[in-house]
Amino acid sequence: MQELKIIKSTTLKDKPEQVGDFGTIFTDHMFVLDYEEGKGWHNPVIEPYQPMLVDPASAILHYGQGIFEGMKAYKTNDGLVQLFRPRDNFLRLNRSAERLCIPQIDVDFVLECLNKLIELESEWIPTKEGTSLYIRPYIVATESFLGVRPSHKYKLFIILSPVGAYYPEGLKPVKILVEDKFVRAVAGGLGEAKTMANYAASLLAAQEAKSKGFSQVLWLDGVNLKYVEEVGTMNIFFKINGEIITPALNGSILPGITRDSVIKVLKSWGLTVNERKISIDEVVEAFDNELLEEAFGTGTAAVISPVGILQYKDKKMELKDFESDSIAHKLYDFITKLQYGKENDTFDWIK
Ligand code: PMP
Repeated sequence: MQELKIIKSTTLKDKPEQVGDFGTIFTDHMFVLDYEEGKGWHNPVIEPYQPMLVDPASAILHYGQGIFEGMKAYKTNDGLVQLFRPRDNFLRLNRSAERLCIPQIDVDFVLECLNKLIELESEWIPTKEGTSLYIRPYIVATESFLGVRPSHKYKLFIILSPVGAYYPEGLKPVKILVEDKFVRAVAGGLGEAKTMANYAASLLAAQEAKSKGFSQVLWLDGVNLKYVEEVGTMNIFFKINGEIITPALNGSILPGITRDSVIKVLKSWGLTVNERKISIDEVVEAFDNELLEEAFGTGTAAVISPVGILQYKDKKMELKDFESDSIAHKLYDFITKLQYGKENDTFDWIK
């Protein structure tokens, strides 16, 4: 690989006092890497954040051959910059790449470039409690060609966006609608890849749920609408009669890094998590028998998102909020403390 070139912006933007809505503000620089068949990945450059010229025939605009990642950089009270398991995000990017016929990246090299980009933009990392710098790596197919086959050209970008606290007033349980019409993904399809198409597929269901006053949908399996898969853009956990359960990775579920972290943290606390199939009927039955103790989503954005209300067809299930006694709260406190450097990193996740 060629050496990373750094072209600094001659004009820097004003940094906002307050970070606004998620994903609306971008920093001064971005990282770009090109791919061309025969040449491989080349031209690594950190350059001013700017609009790009896109050929109207670019493959990404027609067939959606694109993948992405999402992670965050946190600033500790001592001013240190911390990333949470960034290597795992790039390893997942490579797994998504494989599914979408996109060439593999050199994870170590791209991580090095990300670190240089963050170093350059470190003043953009907000410091208020719960805030962070969202990191969005993505790869798009850039060959100008309308035939349906994998592109011969790609671009990898990393852009950065300061984001506010997900829970400015502390963990808040959310209202979830169990989606019984639309599906997000099927095994054998794209569900376990972080590809743009999955998010396009999810929009209509989320929009309809929002119009009915819910914040997210709970996705059921795409074949029988029977087994629980994910919640919005999070993985899902239940506690039923003392058993902690999360749907087993089955090809249509995105293997969340927070999901993996939660399983490992719980294990370190002497608790077991059963990764298995769980049907929506089992959840309803547990609720009817007063055995549904907790349900919560896990993901980079919120870390932990407790479910307050779960609506399945006409059945409204209200879950008790055990607050600090719940696993959800304990996990949230532990993982966020790790991310902000307030907890000893025994897992070696902070980079
Ligand atoms: N499922 C989906 C569909 C997602 O978009 C995300 C967010 N990346 C997750 C689960 C959670 O993954 P992670 O914990 O790696 O953020």
